[in-house]
Amino acid sequence: MHTECPARYDAIVIGGSYAGLSAALQLARARRRLLVIDAGIRRNRFALASHGFLGQDGREPGAIVAEAREQLLAYPNVQWRDGMATDARHDDRGFSVSLADTRLAAPYLVLATGVKDELPSIEGLAQRWGRSVFHCPYCHGYELNEGRIGVLAAGPHSLHHALMLPHWGQVTFFTNGALEPDDAQRAELRARGVRIEPRRVLRLADTATVELEDGTRVVLDGLFTATHMTMASPLAEQLGCELDESPMGRYIRTDALKQTTVPGVFACGDAARMAGNVALAVGDGAQAGASAHRAMLFG
Ligand SMILES: Cc1cc2nc3c(=O)[nH]c(=O)nc-3n(C[C@H](O)[C@H](O)[C@H](O)COP(=O)(O)OP(=O)(O)OC[C@H]3O[C@@H](n4cnc5c(N)ncnc54)[C@H](O)[C@@H]3O)c2cc1C
Repeated sequence: MHTECPARYDAIVIGGSYAGLSAALQLARARRRLLVIDAGIRRNRFALASHGFLGQDGREPGAIVAEAREQLLAYPNVQWRDGMATDARHDDRGFSVSLADTRLAAPYLVLATGVKDELPSIEGLAQRWGRSVFHCPYCHGYELNEGRIGVLAAGPHSLHHALMLPHWGQVTFFTNGALEPDDAQRAELRARGVRIEPRRVLRLADTATVELEDGTRVVLDGLFTATHMTMASPLAEQLGCELDESPMGRYIRTDALKQTTVPGVFACGDAARMAGNVALAVGDGAQAGASAHRAMLFG
């Protein structure tokens, strides 16, 4: 049962991690009455350290969010609700969002709901995700100290991954039936010093040792693979926002101001870009927050 009269805000930000906190900070500083709803399931919760975000390099990912949240909540015009928003709609009065048994309303929404990673189904891989198995070389490649790196193919787009990683170490490319490089691609890989391993991968052991179908063990310091990304929340689709498609998954279509195809709904962070990281999420969030505020002023 929903309460009859929904609480009204100037804007509701859904998702209170890097992108959402950044959007909310702009709106808070514009003195708007604001609600942030967050389920607390950050994409990088598996990693011990976050790299590549200016001023916070190497810091524990949750600590960055906790500090940003504390600074945001010092603004008296900001309210916070923990929980998963399950439904969002719009009518001629604006938008309403369901959270547990409450309906909350605002004329503007910012979606900062992130994505979920679907990992290749290989025994031992999920347990090592964020520790010795990664997707982003900029985030975790440097710490492998130019050591032994594997790239596990997840589809044709993994060729790109295998061609990049030699800047971070000595690369073995496990094609694992997900792609069959043609002669030109093989030559390109060889020119970059990549060893191609066509045998099937059975499981991961130790730090990142790959066990092949015939029992061969390839000892590695780290393994990279592409995940399939899905929206962490159906809210954008419920609202009728158009999505774009990439080989890695779908994401919310936005313009340069982070406005979605539904007027009044802004989107930022991983949910609204083909590939993201913390710095980009924070930048997108700042843009989405400022754009939502300008929409309040100028339509
Ligand atoms: C293993 C791993 C390691 C990574 N390491 C790095 C790194 O070192 N450096 C780097 O820059 N990037 C790294 N990344 C990428 C980084 O995690 C993302 O780019 C970043 O988290 C995106 O921020 P975001 O705010 O868009 O989404 P998220 O951080 O995923 O946050 C989304 C938030 O929205 C909430 N939410 C979703 N739906 C709802 C809903 N319906 N109602 C309420 N709340 C909702 C979620 O619970 C979550 O709190 C890593 C990713 C992974 C998977």
